[in-house]
Amino acid sequence: MTRPAPHDARAEQLAVNLARLDERLTAACVAAGRTRDEVTVVAVTKTFPAADVRRLAGLGVVDIGENRDQEAAPKAAECADLDLRWHFIGQLQTNKARSVAEYAHLVHSVDRDRLVPALAAAADRAGRELACLVQVSLQVTEGRGGVDPAGLLTLADLVAAAAPSLRLAGLMAMAPLDEDPARAFGRLEPLIGALRTAHPAARIVSAGMSQDLEAAIAAGATHVRVGTALLGSRPSLR
Ligand SMILES: *Cc1c(COP(=O)(O)O)cnc(C)c1O
Repeated sequence: MTRPAPHDARAEQLAVNLARLDERLTAACVAAGRTRDEVTVVAVTKTFPAADVRRLAGLGVVDIGENRDQEAAPKAAECADLDLRWHFIGQLQTNKARSVAEYAHLVHSVDRDRLVPALAAAADRAGRELACLVQVSLQVTEGRGGVDPAGLLTLADLVAAAAPSLRLAGLMAMAPLDEDPARAFGRLEPLIGALRTAHPAARIVSAGMSQDLEAAIAAGATHVRVGTALLGSRPSLR
């Protein structure tokens, strides 16, 4: 007699969260006059174990986001048998570029000139083309990282010039914590337009997290980076 598969309560919980998230995304797309297939979910698994990545993969998730190389590199290695796309979404130190280029498919956080030659050299060394997003700041003052809007095109040009090692794929932004996200993401629209005019293939807009994905989708997000709403709350890092 074959034994029933062991009950995996965590997998069931992730399935429920994923279904709820999908309902939210569908509603947000309808409200924005867009279709659900225009928006890709990047599941942000930081602080959660590789076993959760495996469970998500079993539920059909293929895009996985991590923000620290020290955590992402071993997790990606542990999941190398799965056909996943790894997104590096955190602030990137130049000395981590080499490691990130080994597993990342898309780096969301290119936020300064110096990172570009480091990533290009790392991509060459890894024998891979690395897709990159320029992270733009929506902060009125100093804040959550990213290049000033005025510097977006210069940095984008620099990434594009590093082809074929790097591929300029679009931009990334985070809403400031102290502002209505709809208002903040509203400032993205002209930036998206300017980038696409200069670089028509740079079509990815990575914006929106668990709290503000509706506003991001209304503003044109093609990729939402969702942690908490999928995996639950993270232990506070302090
Ligand atoms: C952690 C993180 C997210 C996910 O945030 P949630 O609020 O948990 O959805 C998205 N983007 C970046 C850059 C992150 O570091």
